[in-house]
Amino acid sequence: MQSTYHGRFAPSPTGPLHFGSLVAALASYLDAKKNKGRWTIRIEDVDGSRCKPEFSQSIITTLESYGLYSDTPILDQSHRSDTYEHCLQTLNKQDKVFRCVCTRQSLKHYAGKHPHICSSDNAPLPSSPYSWRLLTEETAVFNVDDPIQGHLIFDLASLKNNPILKRKDGYFSYQLAVVVDDHDQGINHLVRGSDLLDTTTEQLYLYTLLNWEAPKMCHIPVILDKNLNKISKQNHAKAIQEADTNTLLTALQYLEIRDISAYLPINDIILQAVNKWDINRLPRTKTIPLKPEDYWL
Ligand code: GLU
Repeated sequence: MQSTYHGRFAPSPTGPLHFGSLVAALASYLDAKKNKGRWTIRIEDVDGSRCKPEFSQSIITTLESYGLYSDTPILDQSHRSDTYEHCLQTLNKQDKVFRCVCTRQSLKHYAGKHPHICSSDNAPLPSSPYSWRLLTEETAVFNVDDPIQGHLIFDLASLKNNPILKRKDGYFSYQLAVVVDDHDQGINHLVRGSDLLDTTTEQLYLYTLLNWEAPKMCHIPVILDKNLNKISKQNHAKAIQEADTNTLLTALQYLEIRDISAYLPINDIILQAVNKWDINRLPRTKTIPLKPEDYWL
């Protein structure tokens, strides 16, 4: 029997919601509801050095002002360390992770990557702080049929990186947390930005190692600002606070949904958007530049 669709939106609360994240939230919500599924909000505040509780609250309040309510209790990753530690130790028992004492300074010539230059054989001195990294030297190739990006091949060999699963300061990484939570919450469909394609290989590998089924994946184009950068907090995206019809209808246009009356209440606009949602109408690209008339966003 096919299990019920369960999708999610999983923002990292390093700032308030912005137009790019509203579009991503809407896409995941509309796809879940069109498929008569459940939709969950999960707060990815695993990086305690960058995430702030006030941003979690403002993101949730903004989403709800647009009628986007989580169908399940909202989970905070910051409360899930024990579960992540358990999974890390499962991987450790399989010899798939290693302790690493490399520093940002020692890796500075590798563009933030750790390209297999040390291994579990270089056991750190017990007193040195260490991170846990994933061994990625095995041969593994993953095929994904993405409704928007097409047939994708993720080859572990091309990663040339041992991603961090737990940092020296004790925080777990997004890579581990996202896989563990999607699995534990029974998320079986991901609709998220194409910028996350870069992290998908290691996520698929973690699913394999943990013997879990990966969710179906769909990567939508991300919206670029007028400087052709991804709309993001780093690029000083404007905060979206209270819902307003104009912003909602503009966001829906980027999801190829038009002809909804601006005079309807927000909740009715969302209901109409669910009816009109057709994932196949989205452009099969990784990015969409903001139209000049939307530079106000
Ligand atoms: N928390 C991630 C972000 O805000 C998204 C994770 C995901 O959708 O897989 O970029």
